[in-house]
Amino acid sequence: MVETVKPTPSTWCPGCGDFGVLAALKKAGAEAGIPSYQQVLVGGIGCSGGIHNFLEINGIHALHGRLLAQAVGVKLSNPALTVVAAGGDGDGYAIGMGHFIHAFKKNVSILYIVMNNETYGLTKGQASPTSRVGFEGNVEQPFDAILTALSIPAPNFIARTFSGDPRTMTQVLVEALKFNRANRGFAFVEDLSPCVTYNDTFKEWREKIVDISKLPGYDATDRKAVFRLCLETMDSGKIPVGVMHRPRDDEPKAGALELKLLPDLVGPAAADIGLATNIPDYARLLKALS
Ligand code: SF4
Repeated sequence: MVETVKPTPSTWCPGCGDFGVLAALKKAGAEAGIPSYQQVLVGGIGCSGGIHNFLEINGIHALHGRLLAQAVGVKLSNPALTVVAAGGDGDGYAIGMGHFIHAFKKNVSILYIVMNNETYGLTKGQASPTSRVGFEGNVEQPFDAILTALSIPAPNFIARTFSGDPRTMTQVLVEALKFNRANRGFAFVEDLSPCVTYNDTFKEWREKIVDISKLPGYDATDRKAVFRLCLETMDSGKIPVGVMHRPRDDEPKAGALELKLLPDLVGPAAADIGLATNIPDYARLLKALS
């Protein structure tokens, strides 16, 4: 029998939007037919990043903003695993921004879920990169991750969901996980996940979200049209959600890192670097240097 870690009780505030992601991710893993022991979740720093503690799967709590680097490392060292990185907007879109942009370009088959609550909940509600002008004295325009993701011409899966609609979120996560399992590349899902303690946007977001993927004639393979539709939706004061990009079947699969470099990377990554195995080599090196 393969063992996984046992989940601990949640430490989130009652009603936190992250519970929606937790429930949807549990269901999606089961619906996609992925055994728990084949799943690894790399959590970021922040309230949402603790999600791996509440699931019966293997997990790592990454350094602040570095969860994508660690998740890619896990995937390259054991490509059979389904690897999910999950964290918040402060973690992913501030200190983690460099990794965020390059994850689309490298296109490794992992799923990245960002729970966006437009604030730093864990440190008591300061303005984050997605906070609107006026929130806690913020004077900067909010960062939009979906527009950024759509602007990078790589064959990724891109979607936005809402914690108040866990059923749709589950469907989106199932598609994203299957996309990864088929080695199609990087999947990014931004979930609008209200922080009920410091920025309770549940009611406002429920009224404002528009599932653009349900509009007549919508085509998630048409990047330009979706980008334009997102801008138009935002200009009308609404928030676009839905599957924003799905590559055509004839587009290339995962990126250069995964397909071209993987054989070279897996060897060293899988090598035994334990002290006991390598003591003779270290001794030889010390002798040569002395
Ligand atoms: Fe959720 Fe906000 Fe509480 Fe953190 S502080 S657990 S984000 S409701």
